[in-house]
Amino acid sequence: MTAAITAFIGIGSNLDNPRQQVADAVVALRQLPQSQLVAVSPWYRSAPLGPGDQPDYINGVARIDTTLQPEPLLVALQDIENRQGRRRDIRWGPRTLDLDILLYGDSTIASPQLTIPHPQLTLRNFVLFPLCDLAPALQLPDGTILAELLANTPAAGIVRVSDGDQVP
Ligand code: ATP
Ligand code: MG
Ligand code: MG
Repeated sequence: MTAAITAFIGIGSNLDNPRQQVADAVVALRQLPQSQLVAVSPWYRSAPLGPGDQPDYINGVARIDTTLQPEPLLVALQDIENRQGRRRDIRWGPRTLDLDILLYGDSTIASPQLTIPHPQLTLRNFVLFPLCDLAPALQLPDGTILAELLANTPAAGIVRVSDGDQVP
């Protein structure tokens, strides 16, 4: 039997009732094959990054333990996005659901389909805050200490909107 890898999944929505979308995403993540949903962070409301006048986001992070390889994991996450009505017309446009692989164990991956750690991870406060809620002692594959990164990251534009009580 292959040992399970701990992966962190970034969850975001800013369309069609984002609070419900992220709650539905958690239900879907519970059903991922070869995987166990271990924890879900508190949710944060965040100001949008992308083009135009978009609604605010709800963002959070889930921890899964999985024996899926990274590529099949990405396919399974995209399947969940699609089932929740994800459209891919405008880059960084508003979306019902975005599921990104932030970290996959200690792996560093650079393929046409996948960059892990997620390339924007260290730059996005709406990812760093919930990630640190779940894994305060985490080190990134390059040795960066997450808590130190967070200490230098302003909470500008984000507000915690739940207590992270939806651990399965
Ligand atoms: P961003 O990556 O800046 O958060 P996004 O999440 O809006 O942008 P998507 O449209 O969801 O981008 O995905 C575009 C492509 O990114 C996907 O088809 C996928 O192949 C690729 N990708 C690369 N690395 C990752 C990753 N770590 N997690 C999810 N998708 C990734
Ligand atoms: Mg994304
Ligand atoms: Mg994405």
